[in-house]
Amino acid sequence: MEQLETKLGYNFGFRHGFCEECGGRCCTGESGYIWISEEEAKKAASFLLMDMDSFAKKYLFVAKGRLSIIEKEYNGGHACIFFDEKAKNCSIYEVRPAQCRSFPFWDYYKNNTQEALKECPALIVL
Ligand code: SF4
Repeated sequence: MEQLETKLGYNFGFRHGFCEECGGRCCTGESGYIWISEEEAKKAASFLLMDMDSFAKKYLFVAKGRLSIIEKEYNGGHACIFFDEKAKNCSIYEVRPAQCRSFPFWDYYKNNTQEALKECPALIVL
């Protein structure tokens, strides 16, 4: 049975089970920041069997005083560098940062439901 996730303050719900069909719209499209904490970066580095310095040099940049994951060109737009273009999913899923884990329940979407609906086919208005 389809599992519906809801959160107080959001007028949409997230239907689990859609991610495999969607092709990774939350990881691709317009360019944006993919915030990652130092702790999360260390976990991702270790997941990829890399030391933190090499990981940071290869995959991170600093913006507004925070760490963000770099992007690549994809499909006429952008994708997170960790988006697996063949499998159409996250190649570091087990250690993805909190920003990715909490999607689509971001503060921004509380008052921008239409944008959230465009971004994610798993959402339904409640
Ligand atoms: S880290 Fe993974 S889940 Fe987050 S944007 Fe990149 S590919 Fe998507």
